Amino acid sequence: MDWIRIVDARKPVSAGTSCEVRGWVRTRRDSKGGFSFIEVNDGSCLGNLQVVAPSELANYAEQVQKLTAGCSVVIGGKLEASPAKGQATELHANSVRVLGWADPETYPLQKKRHSFEKLREWAHLRPRTNTFGAVMRVRNQICQSIHTFFHEHGFLYTQTPIITASDCEGAGEMFRVTTLDLETLAQSGGPVKYEYDFFDKPAFLTVSGQLEGETFATALGRIYTFGPTFRAENSNTSRHLAEFWMVEPEAAFFDLADDMRLAEDFLKRIFTDCLNHCDEDMQFFNERIQKGVLDQIRSVVERPFGHMTYTEAIEVLENCDAKFDFPVSWGTDLQAEHERFLTEQHVKGPVILTDYPATIKPFYMRVSDDGKTVAAMDVLVPGVGEIIGGSQREERLDVLVRRMAEAGLEEADYWWYLDLRRFGTVPHAGFGLGLERAVQYVTGMANIRDVIPFPRTPGNAEF
Ligand code: ATP
Ligand code: MG
Ligand code: MG
Ligand code: MG
Repeated sequence: MDWIRIVDARKPVSAGTSCEVRGWVRTRRDSKGGFSFIEVNDGSCLGNLQVVAPSELANYAEQVQKLTAGCSVVIGGKLEASPAKGQATELHANSVRVLGWADPETYPLQKKRHSFEKLREWAHLRPRTNTFGAVMRVRNQICQSIHTFFHEHGFLYTQTPIITASDCEGAGEMFRVTTLDLETLAQSGGPVKYEYDFFDKPAFLTVSGQLEGETFATALGRIYTFGPTFRAENSNTSRHLAEFWMVEPEAAFFDLADDMRLAEDFLKRIFTDCLNHCDEDMQFFNERIQKGVLDQIRSVVERPFGHMTYTEAIEVLENCDAKFDFPVSWGTDLQAEHERFLTEQHVKGPVILTDYPATIKPFYMRVSDDGKTVAAMDVLVPGVGEIIGGSQREERLDVLVRRMAEAGLEEADYWWYLDLRRFGTVPHAGFGLGLERAVQYVTGMANIRDVIPFPRTPGNAEF
């Protein structure tokens, strides 16, 4: 008998098919008419498949009637059009094999709804919940779309190192890598001492692959990287993780306008794919997580993003009635509350902010003629704030060297980066999208910890 995924079994066209499904029991209820209804889920979609198990089954009393949430089963039978509302087909079982029991006394995911905080304590079990399953399918869709979009636009997928010596963002939010000295450890037999550098040289976990990415863009034209990124964010916000995934395209011969266009097309493509391929999950988020998220995403793909300069944004913020915890004035970095005001109250949708003060942005961004601003762009979205940070890079050797000196960086440490400007320099630009923030925006999930499989935040690295 053919094993069929529940996402396919639930389609109307599957009625009449003899098949087998493999999954986990969500609920079971026994009917007076001599059969049981078992709701089975296999992760391929949000909805369960209803199984009708007749009392004639050989193991009906000993096993079928003892099934509880979490048990794993292999069920063979025939798909029939379902008389019940909300489902096209149901499976009429002729065999139910139990692979693994789940003691209802100790299995935590009973019918009761658990808070997201509680579920974080069971990071290994929460993929079995509806919400987390839906999040993971949307996250998967976004990852697929990222690769497809860049592939279709001629970008080459490359990889940059996770262990690196450069603090690209200059924000001092790096984790240091240490070498475990096994000899000392064996001799002492005592507690592990982590006091060695990366083979005697300081090294860190990457905060961005951009600088290395530029080396490939200035040779191969258009590239992107997509990998884990680390920041020692010693704060607890709903949009920062110590380990997150970042997509970083970088393109030679791109200026800031090209970069902004790329970012907007890219986001719209991701959103469109989620609407087209994750309909059931998106409906779920719309009903259970954030009312209106579906319409929001639908409308965003249809109209152009807003555009403002940083200077214009500051004027709006200074002259609005909102009360902010952090005061704003020209030269200060925007906080989440300001970004949210701009997107939620002012523009009422995504907005691309450009031309930030040079003093609050990293050394590699291209400086304007008056030296006050840089060719930076941040894409801000309602609910989340900054989702993309990007810029046109400084391609002029002399200006870059001056900016590095101002930032207190040693030229010797960046000799290879400067070489890119010494030999055949070209204008180029790129950006970084935080994968988790994109997932947050599309799903309406409030906390970034709930859109990544194993969130890493201060104090949380166990499993
Ligand atoms: P923020 O202002 O929110 O701290 P940032 O300006 O420090 O972000 P960038 O260095 O511009 O971030 O990184 C590019 C993108 O990576 C951001 O736009 C965001 O989507 C994502 N990102 C940055 N830091 C984090 C983090 N700690 N956790 C999750 N995503 C992050
Ligand atoms: Mg930051
Ligand atoms: Mg920022
Ligand atoms: Mg940024």
